[in-house]
Amino acid sequence: MAASTIYARQQSTGRVVHVEDVVKKTGDGYRCTVCESQLIVVKSEARKRDWHFRHQEDAICAGTRNDFLHEFAKQVVADNTSIMIAQSKRIGYSNPRMEAAFQSYWSDVLIDSEDKDVHVEIVVTHDLGTEKTRAYEKSNTKCVRIDLTEPALLTADKQAIIDAVLNQWDNKTLIGWQQVAPRELSFWEKAALAAVITVLVAFAFALLEWFFNLLFRPRYSRR
Ligand SMILES: [Zn+2]
Repeated sequence: MAASTIYARQQSTGRVVHVEDVVKKTGDGYRCTVCESQLIVVKSEARKRDWHFRHQEDAICAGTRNDFLHEFAKQVVADNTSIMIAQSKRIGYSNPRMEAAFQSYWSDVLIDSEDKDVHVEIVVTHDLGTEKTRAYEKSNTKCVRIDLTEPALLTADKQAIIDAVLNQWDNKTLIGWQQVAPRELSFWEKAALAAVITVLVAFAFALLEWFFNLLFRPRYSRR
């Protein structure tokens, strides 16, 4: 048994392509991104919604729609040069590398942005573990997590997936970036701050009193 897919690796280029972009007549070869076996293009002009790649009859493939979507999303990042990472914040990037090493882990795509490494993690099924998230935070290594767990994306057309990866911002999480949101102070930090302010205010009053005396107390009154 093997699932059909709307994505496949084009043999001539090594890129993962959506079935929408396949020109059947060229006779180009396509392989499964999971099991690497040869796929058959099923693309009839009459039924656009049914376009897909099919495994050979005897193929055994464990690949799921989630796996295929994950591979295509990586290709989308690799093919482009800018991405929305937060509300009204788009970053430009260059030099995308797939499957990059990060400490003892792998990230989906590594990009260069503003002279810094930024790891891109695409979540379809497997989220980043707590340890990997902490490793990014502790080392101040920038990571953009893209949430593609929305089930409709599994069957979405090409443009909808490109939009979800590059142009949508509310599905992105920044890990290991210097967050601008101020942290809430703890009880003891508030207490310490209050003590410091009290001392400063007391000192200011003492200073004021001294200055007042200096100015207004008649110097020759004490004889
Ligand atoms: Zn396969």
